[in-house]
Amino acid sequence: MTRLDLKAGDRLVVKVGTASLVGPTGEPDDDKLATLCRQTIALRAKGIQVILVSSGAIAAGLGPLGLAARPSDIPSLQAAAAVGQGRLLSRYSHLLKAGGLVSAQLLLTRYDFMNRQHYVNARNTVDRLLALGVVPIVNENDTVAVDEIRFGDNDRLAALVANLVRAKTLALLTDARGVHTDDPRRVPDAPVIDEVDRITPELERRAGGRGSTLGSGGMASKIAAAWVATFSGVGVVVADAAEDEVLLLIAAGDKVGTFFHPRPKRVSARRLWIAFAQPPKGTVVVDPGARRAMVTDKRSLLPVGVVGTKGSFSSGDVVDVADRDGELFARGLVRYDFHELQEAQGRPSAELAGREVINRDQLVILEGDET
Ligand code: GLU
Repeated sequence: MTRLDLKAGDRLVVKVGTASLVGPTGEPDDDKLATLCRQTIALRAKGIQVILVSSGAIAAGLGPLGLAARPSDIPSLQAAAAVGQGRLLSRYSHLLKAGGLVSAQLLLTRYDFMNRQHYVNARNTVDRLLALGVVPIVNENDTVAVDEIRFGDNDRLAALVANLVRAKTLALLTDARGVHTDDPRRVPDAPVIDEVDRITPELERRAGGRGSTLGSGGMASKIAAAWVATFSGVGVVVADAAEDEVLLLIAAGDKVGTFFHPRPKRVSARRLWIAFAQPPKGTVVVDPGARRAMVTDKRSLLPVGVVGTKGSFSSGDVVDVADRDGELFARGLVRYDFHELQEAQGRPSAELAGREVINRDQLVILEGDET
């Protein structure tokens, strides 16, 4: 297994979280921003097209608003982001200009990826910006969406951006050296995993936990992003933002952090979002016939194939789909509450007005290369 080295024309999406951009006072640290911009300039000089996904707007808004600490209520955080975003962009634009580069601001939300017209518009804009040699700088539009503030979703936003721009690699820069075999806060000498061929629910469970108090992410949100990106055919590296020349190492395919291999086939952004938008709330257990119908024949899951449920999910939640041996093979949006499904399981659709458990368009098959 080898990592990906980037050539001229390849696209690299780089996501940096608040914790990797601020200094001890909680405000954006110019040295950290300068290091990031210097590497971006070096990559762009090699013809590699860099798209930055940067948090740090809230942090940049604290000083001007005279706030000593990060507020705790969402409207104040949104206000701080609205104040800080322009200031943050002006730092980036100043630092990138030193390398002759122009920067652009893109404020997006996950809804922009679910709306076909918005998706196409955003893609056209980014394509043109990159063709013009500009460095697009993306953040969540915190005025209208607070997913990042609540869930650390800039990781997933970055994964969707990587899908949008057909990036070769997504670099998730953080304050850890990579994904450890165990939570390093509990097991301090847990080694960093070098490469992940395929994300498993077990890896997802073990890496759980939120990050530092300054940002909102954590490893769980990195893994969620890695699911989305690898299913988009994008390789992912989770690495330490403070590592010397980390972006240059990543672009060269050198060993740094944890590398997640891309999957051979791309899944549409909309289905990706459906499958990985929220952590699964439970599991639907199915028989071999239902599994075959879903995986091979690309059919919806019907109640007749369901043999059990785990967890107390509601209609509209994301659930895992597993076989009787507990092997997880799909994930999707369920259309039954768990207790309704317990009543309906095993019954033919005709008795249930044809109501599907998971519609095929709201289903992502996780196994094999079939999507
Ligand atoms: N999008 C926000 C920002 O850039 C949220 C980050 C956070 O929660 O710290 O600041």
